[in-house]
Amino acid sequence: MSASTIKARLLAHFENPTTELTYQNPYELLVAVLLSAQCTDKRVNATTPAFFAKYPSIAILAKANLQEVQECIKSISYPNAKAKHLITMARQVVENFQGQIPQTQAELKSLAGIGQKSANVVLSVAFGANLLAVDTHVFRVAHRLGLSTAKSAAQTEAELSALFVSDLCPLHHALILFGRRICTALKPKCSLCFLQEFCVSRANFKPR
Ligand code: SF4
Repeated sequence: MSASTIKARLLAHFENPTTELTYQNPYELLVAVLLSAQCTDKRVNATTPAFFAKYPSIAILAKANLQEVQECIKSISYPNAKAKHLITMARQVVENFQGQIPQTQAELKSLAGIGQKSANVVLSVAFGANLLAVDTHVFRVAHRLGLSTAKSAAQTEAELSALFVSDLCPLHHALILFGRRICTALKPKCSLCFLQEFCVSRANFKPR
């Protein structure tokens, strides 16, 4: 009962919640998601216009010079590692998937720099899959609201998916926005919270 009420309130509060990353196609979303690991969407969005002007397709990125990619993303966290992942990922897509961004979780996870969370974001946002991804915000919020007691992000994803069943993509983004704007890690804005009666703790939960 509480899960359905929480779901309804989250979807009502955040109108058409979706990713705050800027993208035009699955290729651009894949790159933006890879860049967003441990980096803010705002910083990624400030970087990607110049990146996509220089590397407008996966085929062009596959032939890119490593130092030039590093220079292009130098304001992003971990630019050296991410530049290597970007070029390797692009080569894998060209060589293994005929240049098409794959549309299964296993195939996406076979790409450099792409784990389950990133794969699920690409599949749900770009291809409409009924999936959610558990990042630090979703993990914290799910535990504060008593929706999960799982220790890992993967197990939390399984529990939330079983609990909510449908609308997982918009719900995922609503949970992120709730975590960013209201149920923040430090000093959550509890006086503004529209889910107060479901809160079981204000502790700062993190996945192990
Ligand atoms: S009452 Fe505070 S800690 Fe609890 S869910 Fe709401 S914002 Fe988060």
